Amino acid sequence: MSEPDPSNDPRPETPLEGGCDCRRVRYRLASAPLVVHCCHCRWCQRETGSAFALNAMIESERVTLLGEAPELVPTPSASGRGQDIARCPGCRVAVWSHYAGGGPLISFVRVGTLDEPDRLPPDIHIFTASKQPWVVIPAGARAVPEYYCSEEVWSAASLERRRAVAPRLEAWRAARRAAEGGAAG
Ligand SMILES: [Zn+2]
Ligand SMILES: [Zn+2]
Repeated sequence: MSEPDPSNDPRPETPLEGGCDCRRVRYRLASAPLVVHCCHCRWCQRETGSAFALNAMIESERVTLLGEAPELVPTPSASGRGQDIARCPGCRVAVWSHYAGGGPLISFVRVGTLDEPDRLPPDIHIFTASKQPWVVIPAGARAVPEYYCSEEVWSAASLERRRAVAPRLEAWRAARRAAEGGAAG
């Protein structure tokens, strides 16, 4: 009974796979993501050189590498704590990010790198306060000016998955705090 909830995946019969332009980095998602963000913040606009980023948040243990490992590039982030952007060592296409909140345990997979990106439309538009004025949010789509409360947006299955990873997240954060304390003192 450890199989992912198929009701959480729009097409459970075929796995979600993706990769970079040169195909050195290839990956497979073991299930649907926890949530898909369409982020209109200035950081995402700058990092994509476009109007928004489409990020599928998923437990990193559900991302299987099929090719080479991407290279983690430390990059500034809005939180001030930085992020690691996973880029192909060859063509440098970014396939996902790890942010400070979830660290290496959570991956924000760039939906545009999927072979079938159409399968993961956004669950919510975030930071619409800075969206490009010509981007029109579809009627009925969930959208917030900045961020949101996951209890109000995520599916019950996703919230359950987050509870499952929470102890490891807390352990990782505690280890980071200890490392930072050691560095400061
Ligand atoms: Zn590549
Ligand atoms: Zn953003």
